[in-house]
Amino acid sequence: MPTKKVSIMHAQPTASHFINGKYVEDTNGKVIECIYPATGEVIAKLHSATPEIIDMALNAAKSAQKAWGKLSGTERGRVLRRASDIIRERNHELSVLETYDTGKPMQETLYVDATSGADALEYFGGLAGSITGEHIPLGEDWVYTKRIPLGVCVGIGAWNYPTQIACWKGAPALACGNSMIFKPSEMTPLCALKIAEILIEAGAPAGIYNVVQGYGDVGAALVTDPRVDKVSLTGSASTGKKVYAAAAAGMKHVTMELGGKSPLIIFDDADIENAIGGAMLANMYSTGQVCSNGTRVFVQSGIKDAFLKRFAERAAAIKIGDPMDEETQFGPMVSKSQRDIVMGFIEQGKAEGATLVCGGNAIDGAGYFIEPTVFADVTDNMTIAREEIFGPVMSVFSFETEEEVIARANDTDLGLAGGVFTNDIKRAHRVVDELDAGTCFINSYNDAPVEAPFGGVKGSGVGRENSKAAIEHYSQLKTVYVRMGNVDSPY
Ligand code: NAD
Repeated sequence: MPTKKVSIMHAQPTASHFINGKYVEDTNGKVIECIYPATGEVIAKLHSATPEIIDMALNAAKSAQKAWGKLSGTERGRVLRRASDIIRERNHELSVLETYDTGKPMQETLYVDATSGADALEYFGGLAGSITGEHIPLGEDWVYTKRIPLGVCVGIGAWNYPTQIACWKGAPALACGNSMIFKPSEMTPLCALKIAEILIEAGAPAGIYNVVQGYGDVGAALVTDPRVDKVSLTGSASTGKKVYAAAAAGMKHVTMELGGKSPLIIFDDADIENAIGGAMLANMYSTGQVCSNGTRVFVQSGIKDAFLKRFAERAAAIKIGDPMDEETQFGPMVSKSQRDIVMGFIEQGKAEGATLVCGGNAIDGAGYFIEPTVFADVTDNMTIAREEIFGPVMSVFSFETEEEVIARANDTDLGLAGGVFTNDIKRAHRVVDELDAGTCFINSYNDAPVEAPFGGVKGSGVGRENSKAAIEHYSQLKTVYVRMGNVDSPY
């Protein structure tokens, strides 16, 4: 794979953690090697947080929150909107860093990562002044409610969208008057540090948004600390179960954005080129490392052969290569271990009798590249049909009727997303009504505008990110009863 080597330690940050407005280091923490997935080179070395670092972050977040929560929403929103502007001004530099962190091609990161983070800061910055309670008249008395902050929020990120996740959690948390400690994935530790720096530059008080690095044990220490009021995790369903249980023991609020095994249903009246475009976005974007991907593609039997033939033609034209080249459309997997996991699923697909339509190989070289891969003749009980693969592996199933495909689409413990392609608008609404999914798409796939709620049902999580719905997950109500007359006490 012709990828350019980068100079050693190219992306080394000032220090591993960002706490109370400053970079902080503690070299006693376990080493985290940051590897550029396109070449396998170590581009930065950081340290996992020690108990002292975790304590420092919790104290900073706890003491900064009170005053921040008492500012008016407009004042808080102004800081977020300034941060959004700075991110947009530095989009190129931040996109390069995102590409080093994840290996995703610049063709994606320039348009999706820092920009969607900026969207979240802009949107919640605009909303901050309108976070209010209500007035409830009760004769001459009344009740008023206030929407108040939760306190200290912990955000824990996955590795596929490090800038976006840092902002999707930070923006609503800060808009509601909370402080945040964000722990990025140990595989992509770089981008969130830049968000913390930019928020300070935009006028956020020190301690309002802190970043600590670490493996799962650091996440677990944050989740169980009594100073923490809310935990928002983006990660796998199995980690979600552990984190949800640990948060429940401390009666903490949670948002769980977990994995999926989502269905994409293509009826024979659909526009075939659009349906193929949707299936490509649902499986190949970010080299398939997207939680809401529609990896179970159900194609009505009459068009299945034409669909597969055309999909394979379009897949063959995908430009795989150096992620820093803006012509490149498809980068490596995030890590060697993730590449090996995905290759294991591909081997299982072959062994269990699915038909390989295209791809199926790792690409030689130092980076962690895999070919865009499509299996046909997949049956509902095969491993590749049941488990989240989190790589560029699409499974195609054939179906006959609407009723049948809905039952098969819902036959999973997960429920993050689902999509339908059809030109029959009544059928489109009927089908999405029946899908067990938090987020659905009609004649489209994987759009995630900040204005729309995003999240899953069943094993894919609880709570919603983005939109006005996120406000409810980062704030709580205080009810105040006001009596105007005398107290009528029987005692
Ligand atoms: P992961 O579950 O392995 O790790 C996620 C994060 O949790 C990491 O920061 C990790 O250090 C931390 N962690 C691990 N164990 C922990 C513990 N016991 N306590 C606290 N924190 C702990 O997930 P991953 O491999 O980084 O990411 C891929 C997964 O994320 C996929 O399943 C994908 O579907 C999911 N994901 C979901 C969404 C969504 O919005 N629903 C978005 C992106 C990714």
